[in-house]
Amino acid sequence: MNENTIKLYDENAYSTEFTARVISCEKIEGENGQYKAVFDRTLFFPEEGGQTPDRGVVYLLSEQDIERLKTAGTSESADAFTQGENDINVLDVQIKSDIIYHYLDKELEEGSTILGKIDFSHRFSNMQQHSGEHIFSGIVNSKFGYDNVGFHLSDSIVTMDYSGQLSPEELADVELQVNRAIYENREIRAYYPSPEELADIDYRSKKELTGAVRIVEVDGYDVCACCAPHVKRTGEIGILKIVGFQNYKGGTRVSILCGKRALEFLSGEHNMIQELAGELSTSGDNIPNIVHKQQEEIATLKRSLSEAGEKLLNIEADKVPEDVRNVCLLADKDSDPNVIRRVVNRLVSEREGYCGIFFGDDESGYRFIIGCPDGLNSNDVLTQLRKSFQVRGGGKPAMVQGSIEGATSDNIMETFGQLG
Ligand SMILES: [Zn+2]
Repeated sequence: MNENTIKLYDENAYSTEFTARVISCEKIEGENGQYKAVFDRTLFFPEEGGQTPDRGVVYLLSEQDIERLKTAGTSESADAFTQGENDINVLDVQIKSDIIYHYLDKELEEGSTILGKIDFSHRFSNMQQHSGEHIFSGIVNSKFGYDNVGFHLSDSIVTMDYSGQLSPEELADVELQVNRAIYENREIRAYYPSPEELADIDYRSKKELTGAVRIVEVDGYDVCACCAPHVKRTGEIGILKIVGFQNYKGGTRVSILCGKRALEFLSGEHNMIQELAGELSTSGDNIPNIVHKQQEEIATLKRSLSEAGEKLLNIEADKVPEDVRNVCLLADKDSDPNVIRRVVNRLVSEREGYCGIFFGDDESGYRFIIGCPDGLNSNDVLTQLRKSFQVRGGGKPAMVQGSIEGATSDNIMETFGQLG
């Protein structure tokens, strides 16, 4: 039976290297060459509380390495051991009943000593996001009484699900207050109070907790039970930016970014705006104006194009000799269906047979509107077309519409020629 793993990250969220003894290491069945190792202690934070695990490497230490470490103390860094193929990658970290499992790409011998090194830029980014979340949730809780009922922190998203609805104005106000807390550079303290002390603390918690409760306190803003690493002072969060929100299960899901991630996001948006401004030969703040004007222009052009299309189609209709009973016309695939319908109606009023207009091309297929005078049934044309082609659509006897696949313009003309 394994002992609980000592959580070194509990004591110091900023430590990046540690030595430990390998308690067990077993091959995982099915997983291609992966091993599951337990150490007596670790700095690797496991996947827990909605947060993805730490990344990093471990190195197997030789007797000489261990001796060297003893004399060099902590001054010698893992870099001294990072030469070549001795790196063992930590692919995943999981916790179960207080035992932490490291998923490795190489095997380790039980009883051996390792030196572990966590990817601190990854860890620090998580600390920034997570600490920002605490302040945000603390303010939402004290101001509106809503709880954070779902937290997700991965390499791509940071979301919180609040139990009540927050308006865009309220969210903007919370964002402003969180950033004020960041400027104030308040202390963030993590500690394990005694059961008696805990009884007197008013803290947020996502679930009923058993065992020792770790309290994370952001001076003046939040007290919450939490197991994850946080920054020491709010100033290290740098900035918190809301990047999205939506109604979610009767409450609000808020997406945020903190620190470097927020900077990278805002830089990306800024670069995009600069690029657009260049393309539109304007300044960034004038883009909405220009886009609005362009949309109006597009609408006007579409109207003109539709009018020209209608004129052209009417000229085509005029060209069909009066004694032709069933009329079939072809039109451009971008034709306005309203125009098509008007011209079909006009033809029906002048002719005695079926009148159809097919708009599209041989490659991508055709859409169609077919009409006929009283006494005929447009659905009969569809029946005829369905004998050879895949036809979707339908309608009333006076008019049907739909689409046809696999037919060329010649096929369509031929079918129309054969109608009674
Ligand atoms: Zn936390």
